[in-house]
Amino acid sequence: MKKERQVDGLIVGGGPGGMSTAITAAKVWPERKILLVRPEEEPIVPCGIPYIFGTLKGVEQDLLSNAPFRALGGEILCDTVREIDPKARTALTEDGVLIHWQRLVLATGTRPHQLPFPGIERPGVFVIRKDYDHLEHLFDEVLPQSKRLAVIGGGFIGVEFADEVRKSGIEVAIIEQLPHLLLHNFDEEVAVKVEATLLEAEIQLYTGNGALALEGEGDKGPVQAVRLANQERVEADAVLVAIGDQRNVDLAQALNLTMARGGGIWVDAFQRCREYPEIFAVGDCAFKQDLLLRRSVPSLLASTAAAEGRIAGINLFGLQHERYNAGTIAIYASQIGDLAFGCAGMTANAARHEGLDVVVGRVEVPDHHPPTMPGTRMMTCLLVVSRSGLLLGGQVLGGPTTAEVLNAIGLAIQARLGVHELVSFQFGSHPRLTAPAHPIALCALEALEQLRCR
Ligand SMILES: Cc1cc2nc3c(=O)[nH]c(=O)nc-3n(C[C@H](O)[C@H](O)[C@H](O)COP(=O)(O)OP(=O)(O)OC[C@H]3O[C@@H](n4cnc5c(N)ncnc54)[C@H](O)[C@@H]3O)c2cc1C
Repeated sequence: MKKERQVDGLIVGGGPGGMSTAITAAKVWPERKILLVRPEEEPIVPCGIPYIFGTLKGVEQDLLSNAPFRALGGEILCDTVREIDPKARTALTEDGVLIHWQRLVLATGTRPHQLPFPGIERPGVFVIRKDYDHLEHLFDEVLPQSKRLAVIGGGFIGVEFADEVRKSGIEVAIIEQLPHLLLHNFDEEVAVKVEATLLEAEIQLYTGNGALALEGEGDKGPVQAVRLANQERVEADAVLVAIGDQRNVDLAQALNLTMARGGGIWVDAFQRCREYPEIFAVGDCAFKQDLLLRRSVPSLLASTAAAEGRIAGINLFGLQHERYNAGTIAIYASQIGDLAFGCAGMTANAARHEGLDVVVGRVEVPDHHPPTMPGTRMMTCLLVVSRSGLLLGGQVLGGPTTAEVLNAIGLAIQARLGVHELVSFQFGSHPRLTAPAHPIALCALEALEQLRCR
């Protein structure tokens, strides 16, 4: 017999987007019953995946806690939603549970791209899935038997994975078709500094040539090498293909929801789909509009998913006009060795490619003061500024305070601040914690001088 459930809010998917929606809705609407459905008992923290293979030393160290949602009275059902009837407002799960809902949130995320390489089926070739058993198999069986790993894709996931795996003594090479690693998010001057740190860690870099095929004995033998576009052969007995993910929009397509041209479920500023105002979509499965260009942007980040989840959660049972999605900017930070680096908004290269006339303010400062303070590191800060003085983007390289300086840049871009405001930016200063003068203020001054000299 079919089991039936009655809830106010049904969240489909329990990654950062779904969980953030669920927690926010449970907080803002405490009288409502919120149910989150996802197949995983204990979901992985996706951003922590590369660290399983080095720093964390095990999949069980990288689990997302259910406690904050449950503490707010939320309920989790480990199951998969198979069908949705938007008119009857029901969802049917694989286990045969029929759930009646008032509001539905699709937070179904992504899955790895269908891979285009000949030889992709060979033993030893793998992708990253946000799946406990898959990651455990890689950790316990695939990597311990590998002597040399080739990572195809020099974006941030490929770079982090390579650095972590190298820590366990396996030889690692990264293959990237663009002239440098990380060029989707960073300007070349930052990318080359990260490359230098990877080379110091004895990671080999093959840039400017894409992978063509995965070679081994016969048609089905284990992988032995990656053939590059220039015919070079990179030997490897394990290959990670890290070329990005595709949106999981199966349920949305079955509902005939409008899809955005750039990909993802079309959503309005409150994360609602076009056809049914009671159906929301958040996170990687949802369309994102660039804050500055007002155009579709492929920014698939947990931080973006969580921000969208907060918007959906707040507006789930009634729109709160002051809380809406004004547009997306990618903000991201990472660390290789003891070099931290991060980016927010547009690179100078991307801005110029769009036809924007920009200047780049650039400073290098000690991150504590006086510079004799133990633990002091040099920090490089770049601000990308339009001709009118508007802040468009920023990049930071340095020590442990890098991510928070970057987050301040991200906030300034979202607040539409320009160099005229940022030069007089007031901030807290302490010898052990900050630079003597804030790098953002110094960088803004540098950019302002360049604009004045024009
Ligand atoms: C290795 C790696 C490192 C990353 N590092 C970072 C980082 O440092 N910073 C950052 O901001 N981002 C990072 N990201 C990106 C980030 O992980 C994603 O942007 C984020 O997971 C998106 O969250 P989501 O909730 O939209 O989707 P997902 O995390 O993909 O979650 C989707 C959920 O939906 C469930 N689901 C799907 N279909 C159904 C169904 N029919 N019924 C029920 N449940 C369903 C899935 O099982 C899953 O629980 C990283 C990604 C990877 C792979």
